[in-house]
Amino acid sequence: MKNWRFHTRVIHEGLRPEDWEGATLPPIYQTASHRHPTAESLSAAFGGQSADHIYLRLSNPTNRFLEEKLAALEGGAGAILTSSGMAAIANACLALLRPGDEFVAGNSLFMSTYVLFANIFPKYGITARFVEPTDLEALKAALSPRTRFIFVETIGNPKMDVPDLAALAEIAHENGLPLIVDNTLATPYLCRPIELGADIVIHSTTKYLSGHGCATGGVIIDSGRFDWTQSRFAEDFKPFVDRRGPLAYLDKVWREYHINFGTTQAPFHAYLTALGLDTLALRMERHCENALKVAQFLSEQPEVQWVRYPGLPDHPHREVAERQFQGKGFGGLLTFGLKDQETCFRFIRNLRLVYHLANLGDCKTLIIHPYSSQYLAFPEDLKRSLSITPDLLRLSVGLEDVEDICEDLRQALDKVK
Ligand SMILES: *Cc1c(COP(=O)(O)O)cnc(C)c1O
Repeated sequence: MKNWRFHTRVIHEGLRPEDWEGATLPPIYQTASHRHPTAESLSAAFGGQSADHIYLRLSNPTNRFLEEKLAALEGGAGAILTSSGMAAIANACLALLRPGDEFVAGNSLFMSTYVLFANIFPKYGITARFVEPTDLEALKAALSPRTRFIFVETIGNPKMDVPDLAALAEIAHENGLPLIVDNTLATPYLCRPIELGADIVIHSTTKYLSGHGCATGGVIIDSGRFDWTQSRFAEDFKPFVDRRGPLAYLDKVWREYHINFGTTQAPFHAYLTALGLDTLALRMERHCENALKVAQFLSEQPEVQWVRYPGLPDHPHREVAERQFQGKGFGGLLTFGLKDQETCFRFIRNLRLVYHLANLGDCKTLIIHPYSSQYLAFPEDLKRSLSITPDLLRLSVGLEDVEDICEDLRQALDKVK
């Protein structure tokens, strides 16, 4: 199995039809709880001497299949599936934080991640220091003895910046810190941050991993490599290191946050995600191919003021992206500018094929005007500092025939001339 290539592994990893009456995906274990034959067996499950399931909030066999598969695809040692990407981010960070702590985060983050870091964590005495994640000197300058981790996105959403993960991992490790990477936009098809030195990878599985836009979910994947006995973490992590060794971090996430906050994923969503995941490699290939063509097309249209896509020759991080994504492509997301907000609104109103909705990573092409939607409540100067301008549209390029996507964009441009 180890020798299989990615397209094969994304389909076959973890399949055990012999355990599922020959079924080719695990059944949906739609149960809130699991019967135990003896008090000894339930006690062993609670004590961690057996991996048997107890109660859905704690674990579930359908979810465990997907956890093991996603961990394997990212090159991690284990994973915890959560109800959403945000649940994964909240749990992944909280397990490392105490009141008075700080962490350093990239300044181009998914909107809710930014709100969590900038507005919610401070209520608990936690400070996020936001830096340009491609400015390594600024990043180093933001570190302090209270810093607990560095958090970045593989491709910033919607700024489309691509930080150098290997360089960030090196800085993190020189300072005894773990690097957390939100790999939602790249997926393990384009980038496996753990291979580049990252310690923890999180995803919103709602997006490319499921690919159909019909299930929500998140995942936290642990490389199992970070040394939690280092001075900064030793005291906090001791019981977890004693219990689970290299999986101490996941044990802490699970024991302290996942089961007590109740961030469980419904097994039906895990099943839908597993169903979509089978075609991830093929879909990403086409997302990348279509997005590059659409980015080139948009660059040539006179009404389009600018296009931001890591695959375009003028993108400032094209080289890093090329290396980090192994030359396989640059993802399915891009942003572009029209004259002003009014033009963007008229453009959206005139689209026929492209869906206007708040999601990305779907097989369908999706568009949104972030300034007036997700970022509506943000103060003007903050929107500017996050590169959310009134002229910006975000396009998640889908799997349709690329000529149809371009034709739809062109006919809508004709209407806003
Ligand atoms: C969507 C998204 C999230 C949040 O995921 P949900 O499943 O919606 O909670 C986090 N990070 C990125 C990059 C995303 O695109």
